[in-house]
Parts: sequence; structure tokens; C-alpha cells
Amino acid sequence: MQTLRQFYEMLDESQWWPPSRMTEWQQGLLRPLLNHARATTPFYRFRLEKLFRSNGAIDWARWSEIPILTRSDVSRHFASLLSRAPVEQHGPFSDVSTSGSTGHPVTVRTTRWLNGMALACSWRGHRWAGLDWSKPLLSRGETLPGKAIGAALGPWGPPWLPEAASGQHLHTNYSNPYWSDLEVIQRQAVYAYAATTNQLEIFFDDPALPGLPDLKVVMVRGGAVTDYLRTQVARVSAAQIVEAYSSKEGGALARPCPAGHGFHTNAEAVLVEIVDAAGQPVAAGEKGRVVITPFGSTAMPLIRYDQGDEAIAGETCGCGRPLPFIRRLEGRTNAVFEHPDGRRSREMMPIEGRRLLGAGRWQVRQVGPTDFEVDYVRHDWGTAPDLDAFSALFRTVFFDDAVVTVREVKELQLGATGKYREYENRWRRDG
Ligand SMILES: [Zn+2]
Repeated sequence: MQTLRQFYEMLDESQWWPPSRMTEWQQGLLRPLLNHARATTPFYRFRLEKLFRSNGAIDWARWSEIPILTRSDVSRHFASLLSRAPVEQHGPFSDVSTSGSTGHPVTVRTTRWLNGMALACSWRGHRWAGLDWSKPLLSRGETLPGKAIGAALGPWGPPWLPEAASGQHLHTNYSNPYWSDLEVIQRQAVYAYAATTNQLEIFFDDPALPGLPDLKVVMVRGGAVTDYLRTQVARVSAAQIVEAYSSKEGGALARPCPAGHGFHTNAEAVLVEIVDAAGQPVAAGEKGRVVITPFGSTAMPLIRYDQGDEAIAGETCGCGRPLPFIRRLEGRTNAVFEHPDGRRSREMMPIEGRRLLGAGRWQVRQVGPTDFEVDYVRHDWGTAPDLDAFSALFRTVFFDDAVVTVREVKELQLGATGKYREYENRWRRDG
């Protein structure tokens, strides 16, 4: 197995590999993963049958016949997805839970190997974005016992590089109040602030937020950046917004192209497919579901796992990198709204809807067959809300007979999990 440093250094070259060489690399990691999954997990014992010839060789042409693994498969079959003979050199292993926007938490078992590959891919993404590892990064993450908010955790760039030595990764955690993040950002002249889209929206939503001249970079994890977040960041700083398409299950999935065209997948660490309802790859320019196979997930193989996102497939990128290309990420699939006649919608309200209400953060809920509620925190006091225009827009986005009740609130209610969910179906708990 390569060291972290070797893998990172390889990524510098492999971004220029011709597609045939990349396929060879991927098959070199998929082959042992598939064999391992088939031999050591009950879940995959028969599921991969079609892929294997009688002599044990893999028929790659039949790859897309492997059924898609859904979130609900993972939550229902956690135990049988676990390898009975985890590869010790890939450990230690850890269980991580992810709630996703659909509110159905799933737990997966990840490996140190997966996390190492993700880290190296992130570093490549930092270089593509021209980030400066010598300056402080404040990152919201899991609570670390004994670590105060603002405590230095070590370099956030590759630790062997002299330029990365002085740039400390400063700690803050998910349950920490935002005002104390602000304090750290101001006191320690934080250069980069990293969190999820939702967390950043909460932070930048505060109308009393002062200007943040030292903040040069806002790093967004998880999913697509909303226009709303871009507007709110620009209000207080000139920070560059750097997206990372990642997940706890799959690690680092894709990063924005350095030439600004779209996203390149981290094909060296994960196979990312964009597929239609039948599990077949969509054509360039078409929208499909993101399905991933992370090569490092050997403790709990995730083979063709539906990440819960949609994306527009790309062809080749203008920057010249043959690395697979995603034209656009459509963001986390939100709650599915359902009409009694069977129509379903995963749409989201356009930014225009927020303007019509003067809304900051909001929650959009289906509460009956054609009944919807929108709770919002008022943000822009300059103009009166136009409820009729909002309802009309809502009906064109979702269903023409939707009845919308709009309420201005001081604070949004969090659900039972304590997580903020922008869209929710309470009529049928579909996920
Ligand atoms: Zn590119």
C-alpha cells in the first residue's frame, strides 16, 4: 500500500493520465474490493454474481447490472454489509453516521485508508483553488475531547511541506455557538473557514455580522453552494468560496476544476457514476443520480451506492485534464413532495422566492395532500413581503393546486434530530 505522501504525489501526475490508464488504475482497486466483498460479506455473496465469469474473472462490461445500493439498504442491512474479515492494514475502522437532508440517518463503517485517500484528494483540491496552507483554517467538525474552541490541531496542509508548517488547523465543533466562531475568526485572523452549506448559511445570515477583512476563503463541504450563501458571504467579506463535494460515506468525491468549468471527480479514490433510473450512465449534458464506489471502503463495501445527489454529467473539460468531469452538482436531493395523484417533486424554490418574502433561512414543509407550510426568518426589512406572488411561484415550482401557509418566525424549529432541514415531507415520511 502507498503511503499518504506517495498517494498525494501520485495525484499530481494522475490528473493528467489518459482515460485508459485511469480505468486500469480503478480496476486494479475495484478487483480486490469486489472479490473481498463477495467473499467476506453476506450482503454481496450473490449480488455481484453477474459480474463474475465462471473462471473468477470480472466482466467489466456488465458493471451497470450491479443493483444500486440505497441509503435504506445500508440502514436495513448494516450488519450483513460488514466484512467478516476486514483488512487490518486498512484500519483502524470507525463508524460514522450521516443524517443527509432526507433525515434518515445511516451509519457506515469507514477505514483509515479511505480517510487518507480523501485527505490527499482534498490537498489536490486546495492546490487547484490556490489555497495558502501557511495561514490559519477554522473548521467545524466533530467534538474533540479536551480541545477548546480555537485550539490548534496541527497543520492542515501536507505536514511534510515546509510552507504548511505554520498554518494551523483551529478547532471548532458542530455544537459550538456561532458567535464564538466569530470571536476566533477575528482574534486569530482566520484565513479560511470551513463548514457545511447549512452551517455557513446560519453563520453568515446574522445581520449584525461585522466585516471580516482577514477571511479570504470560505470552504464549503458536503453539497452544492446556494446563491443565498454566496450573497451573504459577499455582504461581509471578499472571501473566495471553495466547494468540496464530499460525503462521510465516500470521502472526497469531486473538486471544482481549477479553470472554473465544473467539477473533476477524484477518480483515483472513488468511482463516481451519474446514472438514470435504470442504473445506466447518462449522456453528457444529462441529469442523473450520483452513484459512488469508494475504493477504500473495505470494512463495509459500498458498491454502486446512491449518494442522494443529482448532477449533470460532463464530457471532457476545457482545462485539458482527462480526469472525469461533472458539469454541475444539483445539490442534495431534498425531501420528496408528493401529490395525491402520484406526481412527485424534488424541486427547490428558486432564490426569487426568498426575495419575495425578504426571507433569510426558511423551512418548507408538506403537511397534507396539497397543504404546505413555509416558516421563514425575515431578513430584508426594505420591502414588504409579497405573499400572493410567493404562493403563485410556489405553485409553478411544485403543484398547481398547492395551498401555502407562510409564517414569519423569530427562529426556525429544529426537528427531533436537532438538525436543520430546509425541505421536509411531514405528510408522508418518505425520506
Ligand atoms: Zn477541468
